[in-house]
Amino acid sequence: MTTIGIDLGATHVRAGLVDQAGRLSRVVRRVLPPDPAARVRTTRQVLAEYADVAVAAVGVAVAGTVRDGVLTWSANLGLSGVDFAAELGRPVTVLNDARAAGLAEARLGAGAGAATVLVVTVGTGLGGALVTGGRLHEGTGHAGEVGHLVLDADGPPCGCGNRGCWEQLAGGVALNRTGAALAPTGAAQPGAARLAAAVTAGQPRATAALERHAAQFARGLDSLCAVLAPHTVVLGGGLIARPGPIRDAYLAAAGTLRWHSGPVHPARLGDDAGVLGAALAANPS
Ligand code: BGC
Ligand code: ZN
Repeated sequence: MTTIGIDLGATHVRAGLVDQAGRLSRVVRRVLPPDPAARVRTTRQVLAEYADVAVAAVGVAVAGTVRDGVLTWSANLGLSGVDFAAELGRPVTVLNDARAAGLAEARLGAGAGAATVLVVTVGTGLGGALVTGGRLHEGTGHAGEVGHLVLDADGPPCGCGNRGCWEQLAGGVALNRTGAALAPTGAAQPGAARLAAAVTAGQPRATAALERHAAQFARGLDSLCAVLAPHTVVLGGGLIARPGPIRDAYLAAAGTLRWHSGPVHPARLGDDAGVLGAALAANPS
């Protein structure tokens, strides 16, 4: 039977219907408003767009830590203590966005068939999931919060309260900051897009800055591989899904790891991975 998958990220909410074979239809995508409470409202409105469909279950993937269906904390959404079943007015399965994307990529996408898959998503934040034999490593619940590995104790402050977290050096937040500093005009576009445009235009300062971010990305990824020894690494998230210099630089840097000689694949399910994974988690049969 059909399941609804919803992916609530830092900048967009995306949803779709997923059938038993993992096929996606009626995809809806909305830009999230800056006000945190309005983001939950937007999610409710997106769910209401499927009111005409009889569904077996609803899965929600959200950019933060989740316990018993509640978003307990989020570095980039400005939300905490959100009980999605109460907010959406129906039973829902809730899990972290990167873990949802990881589950989908490991089962249906670029990691299919590998014994252990490390999936890292590159969006506003950096997210992670370790999938072994098709199952997510859970730990006590928040396993995969790779974006908050501290790589530079004197680095930029992070939404988590620490400084120099991996996502502050190599996530979309870092690329946005660099892009905004390099190209202060054209502010309608996110800084990461301005950085990509400057690299494409051949600006040496932009190219050097992107190389630095990519090297920092590879440094964190290499440390994760040293600890986790995955058979396959999959890189996903919005900034890898879009063709261009950011994706190219990150994939190239991830191809030069000291602790991983297996494949590093770009995600295959693109921006749909979170929606598919949320549906898979909600309807495991
Ligand atoms: C959050 C994670 C999330 C990741 C990607 C990080 O800042 O802590 O929970 O998975 O961003 O959205
Ligand atoms: Zn952090």
